[in-house]
Amino acid sequence: MITVEEAQARVLQAFAPLAAESVALDRASGRVLAADLTARRSQPPVAVSAMDGYAIRAADVAMLPARLSVIGAAPAGRKFTGTLGAGQAVRIFTGGSVPSGADAVVIQENVVSEDGSFIRVLDGVSRPGANIRLAGLDFTVGDRLLTAGRRLTAPAIGLAAAMNLADLPVRRQPRVAILSTGDELVMPGESSIGEDRIVAANGFALAAYVRDWGGEPVDLGIARDSIAELKAAAAGAAGCDLLVTSGGASVGEHDLIQRALGESGFALEFWKVALRPGKPFIFGKIGAVPVLGLPGNPVSALVCALLFLRPAIDRLLGLDPPGIAEMSVTLGRDLPANDQRQDYMRASIKRDARGTFVATPFEHQDSSMLSVLARADGLVIRPPNAPAARKGDPVHLLPLTERAFGA
Ligand code: AMP
Ligand code: MG
Repeated sequence: MITVEEAQARVLQAFAPLAAESVALDRASGRVLAADLTARRSQPPVAVSAMDGYAIRAADVAMLPARLSVIGAAPAGRKFTGTLGAGQAVRIFTGGSVPSGADAVVIQENVVSEDGSFIRVLDGVSRPGANIRLAGLDFTVGDRLLTAGRRLTAPAIGLAAAMNLADLPVRRQPRVAILSTGDELVMPGESSIGEDRIVAANGFALAAYVRDWGGEPVDLGIARDSIAELKAAAAGAAGCDLLVTSGGASVGEHDLIQRALGESGFALEFWKVALRPGKPFIFGKIGAVPVLGLPGNPVSALVCALLFLRPAIDRLLGLDPPGIAEMSVTLGRDLPANDQRQDYMRASIKRDARGTFVATPFEHQDSSMLSVLARADGLVIRPPNAPAARKGDPVHLLPLTERAFGA
């Protein structure tokens, strides 16, 4: 058995960022930038008004009230072409270009209009520049504002658009082949299912994770526990960036993954990690295609996906650092000493009266129990041979949901 850290390092070594491709802004959500982006335009491109009101000369309103003549209008998108002189004002709206000659904007709430062609300024404007957004306030042409390796969030996509970029360079999405194995498996939704059957859950959960993490799942379906069928199904991974199998990874006589893949030229990198749940994890390659052999128990399969598949996808996408960042939280109940396997305990998270995050491992930690994993906000990490821990001790946690932390 190797440690989780060593296993993660060896998995990561097998992956490098994929090629870049170009996507339109409206397809870019969640994709990962493959190059730095520089602004092709300044924002705002010229000085504009931050408010609805009147463009004026600050010197003209040093004494209040002040009476000014209105010589034109500058709504957003239509600039006033004349020049403002002493005693004059231009009606202006948010985003309108500040006319030449003006050095401040008085907000309309501080003004009374007299028959449309004169205004009386009653209040406000103590300095030149008031209520004006200078050219380049947000950014200037040539500014490097978004860097390679970041995921494109809504604000980042908005920013790229404002930078006058219509198409963005992003990493190609990893194609992840998913193969479920087991004689007992049937597809969900069938009306009559034998008592000795199990509804196949792993493939659907894994595909959802792959999609969440920015990959493209390729469904290879269910293969029975026969060498010939496993071999044939695994051949479907050709052209994918990696193959993920679930089931058949243990030492039972029906656990055939290694033998079946071996006949397809599988080169084993390692098997078995000092981990709970997920000890029988297999890693190797068929030709150039890395293979992650996950255990069949659903929680084991998904914990291995979080620990090994997620960093692999992150690396393919050029996300750095890869994987989910651990956080430090407070333990919500006593725990016994741990054995030599690193434990990932399904836990709920609440905030105590002081606002500290408290993670309480559920009582049942069986690796078959999806109901517990689906309720969990995170995985409390118990290092190998950790001594008994007390409620209130600090522990490391792998967060699974944003809900527990955001709210
Ligand atoms: P295995 O690793 O093949 O020995 O499977 C371990 C346990 O996980 C068995 O109880 C299997 O029925 C169950 N299992 C395997 N594959 C799946 C799957 N795709 N969905 C749900 N349970 C599974
Ligand atoms: Mg099996």
